[in-house]
Amino acid sequence: MTRTTPPRPLDITEAFPELAGLARTACRLHPVPGKPTVHDSSVGGPLLWPADEPWPEYELTYVPYEPVTKLADIHLRRTLLTRTYSPPGGPGETLTEDEQETLRRASADHPPESFPSGPQALIPLAQLYSRDAPGLAFPQGTDLLQVLWAPSYEIEGDSAAVQLRWRRTSEVRDVLLAAPEPVYVAMQWCVPVPCVLHPEPVREFPPYQSLDKDLAARLMEWDFYESELSVAPGWKAGGWPAHFTFRDPPEPDSAELRCPECGGPVDALLTVGGTEWGKPNDSWRPVECGEGAERAPGQSSQDLRDPTDVTIGRGYTLQIYNCVGTPSHLPRRIMQ
Ligand SMILES: [Zn+2]
Repeated sequence: MTRTTPPRPLDITEAFPELAGLARTACRLHPVPGKPTVHDSSVGGPLLWPADEPWPEYELTYVPYEPVTKLADIHLRRTLLTRTYSPPGGPGETLTEDEQETLRRASADHPPESFPSGPQALIPLAQLYSRDAPGLAFPQGTDLLQVLWAPSYEIEGDSAAVQLRWRRTSEVRDVLLAAPEPVYVAMQWCVPVPCVLHPEPVREFPPYQSLDKDLAARLMEWDFYESELSVAPGWKAGGWPAHFTFRDPPEPDSAELRCPECGGPVDALLTVGGTEWGKPNDSWRPVECGEGAERAPGQSSQDLRDPTDVTIGRGYTLQIYNCVGTPSHLPRRIMQ
């Protein structure tokens, strides 16, 4: 299956020729719920992990003040709920009483104190093979990027709650069969539905914060530069960083836009988007996802726009930046 973003409503470089040299290729990931294997690029799927390499862990620096959930329960609840969604052309299934009881149990919250404290296993966020990520700069000799995180408020910032691994797949001999799991999840809306990807390269132009102020001011007079002509919505790799929507961008020389480990420059690596399209950026809806588009059995129409079920803040975007000089350094994350 492929995904095809329609051409932009107009070519912005005709009105603003100074943008022509600033185009970048981003890779829209187009996640679709499925059963990815370690050999597939994925969001929330299993990672090609060497059996003899320790799995990364992280200890939250805060005690969650909201009830927490178990990872297995999140997946179980989603599986049961998905069966009750109405598929195209028919009503959804009705769960048996036993299943309803299981659903109630899996939906229960737990006080964080009921679990042991200490470091916990990270969970897979995304895995990208270089063949599926056109435009993304892989460090020399590597062909696989893995991103893991601790589903919590600390996905923002510069802690080790988000970690990167760049690998050469031919060096992974024995593959880890069962990844460790955290004993509890502090923020269930940061656990992605396992998705296969349908990567597509698209051309992007800079967000306002990456342009000089004069040009940005002139582009702002075109309402739809931000939503339709510059940066693709949804999950993507490489390209330009997302626009800042609910807060001001950091000043260009701010420490917030420097590598947390070496202080060097950072650039856009992975964008954890809100919805893949919608208002006001409906023109990014792939042609394969039009009204009445085919859906997998059990897939709701919402899944098409929001396939991973990950929510960042109040529907914002998490931009993951990584170090330009040493790509394996801890990534910087900004909700924007
Ligand atoms: Zn660095």
